[in-house]
Amino acid sequence: MTPRRARGAGLGPDRTDEFLIGVLALQGGFEAHAGALEELGARTRIVRVPADLEHLDGLVIPGGESTTMTLGIERERLAEPLREFVRSGRPTLGTCAGLIMLDRGHLGVLDVSVRRNAFGRQVGSFEADLDFEGEPLHAVFIRAPWVEEHGEEVEVLAEVDGHPVAVRQDNVLAVAFHPELTGERRLHHWLLDYAGVAA
Ligand code: GLN
Repeated sequence: MTPRRARGAGLGPDRTDEFLIGVLALQGGFEAHAGALEELGARTRIVRVPADLEHLDGLVIPGGESTTMTLGIERERLAEPLREFVRSGRPTLGTCAGLIMLDRGHLGVLDVSVRRNAFGRQVGSFEADLDFEGEPLHAVFIRAPWVEEHGEEVEVLAEVDGHPVAVRQDNVLAVAFHPELTGERRLHHWLLDYAGVAA
């Protein structure tokens, strides 16, 4: 999961305070993401309208409720600005409903089809110890989706019962669980690392 391009001189986790990361805040769990990023030394900005995307080094699309989030994106005319942001190559992390928003059926910037509430709507919340690229990662799933089908350029980073729950395509990392709720900071770290190489 190391960013592909070589890191620029002087950039990296020791310079995270130079990065401004946006957290989409139409609905859902945006505060915990902002807290996680600030804990790692980054500055954050709540994103509610297209102008909030200006000059960001990275973006988080949090969990929540994808139908409500879709309505918010339509209301604020955010779909095209969000697509442009992702296509600009800057790092984007989607979690749970955020994974759904990135998929083929929504923003269409991640080449995956996602099944909502895939683990069952009522009993679908659970914790699991994942093998995340060969390393253990404790994950909390809340009415989580899984990736049903994906294109060749999509890398699967973790699975539950054979279903992808963490994927990456270039500058987009998307997971079905909630890293912001467990103290797990590897994914937020990736975002800042990638912001370093994209800067
Ligand atoms: N079940 C929600 C949806 O389909 C996602 C749940 C979450 O983000 N924790 O939108």
